Amino acid sequence: MRDLLARAEAGEGISLEETASLVAREDEAACRALYEAACRVKLRYVGNDVYLRGLIEYSNICARNCLYCGIRRGNGRIRRFELGLDEILGAAALAEEYGYGSVVLQGGERRDGRAVELVDEAVRGIRKAFPGLGITLSCGEQSHDVYRRWRESGADRYLLRIESSSRELFRRIHPADSDFDERLAALKDLRAAGFQVGSGVMIGLPRQTAADLARDIFFFRDLDLDMIGMGPWLPQHDAPLRDDTPETPEKAARRFRLGLNMIAVTRLLLRDVNIASTTALQTLRPADGREMGLLAGANVIMPNVGAVEHRADYQLYDGKPDLDENAAAIRAALERSIARIGGHIAYRTQGTPRHYLARLNRLSEG
Ligand code: SAH
Repeated sequence: MRDLLARAEAGEGISLEETASLVAREDEAACRALYEAACRVKLRYVGNDVYLRGLIEYSNICARNCLYCGIRRGNGRIRRFELGLDEILGAAALAEEYGYGSVVLQGGERRDGRAVELVDEAVRGIRKAFPGLGITLSCGEQSHDVYRRWRESGADRYLLRIESSSRELFRRIHPADSDFDERLAALKDLRAAGFQVGSGVMIGLPRQTAADLARDIFFFRDLDLDMIGMGPWLPQHDAPLRDDTPETPEKAARRFRLGLNMIAVTRLLLRDVNIASTTALQTLRPADGREMGLLAGANVIMPNVGAVEHRADYQLYDGKPDLDENAAAIRAALERSIARIGGHIAYRTQGTPRHYLARLNRLSEG
């Protein structure tokens, strides 16, 4: 039988066990071969462009109590904030000025009318002021009607991570008021509302196995997702989720490697989707974590365009980088680091996932 990696690169179906064995690779040379194969597939299916999305963390007020998250409602030790409409539009203006093709509005999950209205106003405001800017939302689970409304107001994309496709793991990292099936239904509602849909998982969760992670990738494929955003799980000092044994640098390094492996194997199996190289990778390796994600097969980075003022209050996990860096400094550092690895930033383009465009084509032809 031909080499597993060669078969995966050629797009031949590989089994769940084989997928898990790729995800679990540890040996440096074997990992390098995996990332190089993923990059060849990336080049062939989505090209060498890196798309930037200006991240606007608009509020840390959250009605959920996820056991891993620093802005969970039960955390009484952070200052809660919500940006005003003018502040959100100001951040979007920066993204436009910097030539980022799109913005991401991310915040805690709230379903009350006022919170829904603020997002709606922000979307309409951005759409009107910057017609060419893509708008991605990451505002948690909402009703189908709310999703439709935001879509009609001009949002294009939505990120909602499943966090883990294993029901068992999902249950272990969430309180009883979070329901796996509801989250799954929300992902289907998003598709029905016409969004480009992104999801993802946390990597290296306590007691998560390589087989769990392989199943996550199959889950992404079964859901026909357009975008994948995933990163290593990072302990948060005020959040209750803990590993069975104390943190060590070796464990952090393992989660980082698993994060890169997941990007690479997802690229090999899903091919034409957009894959983000996330801040969690940068957290584990501030100097070059996200760049290594690009070299493992990712093609999207989400630099922060928000004001420094609220950065410290939006720490989903410990060690989040760039707490004192303003948007201009972040941009300059990113340009340098992407140039260093030979990446090419595609400015002033939305970078719509090829996978989404292909689906649209199929629908219009069918
Ligand atoms: N409330 C929104 C988005 C905000 S949280 C939603 O529910 O979709 C964005 C993402 O941060 C989460 O989906 C989760 O995967 C990630 N995250 C939160 N806490 C984390 C931690 N401790 N380590 C790694 N990622 C974390």
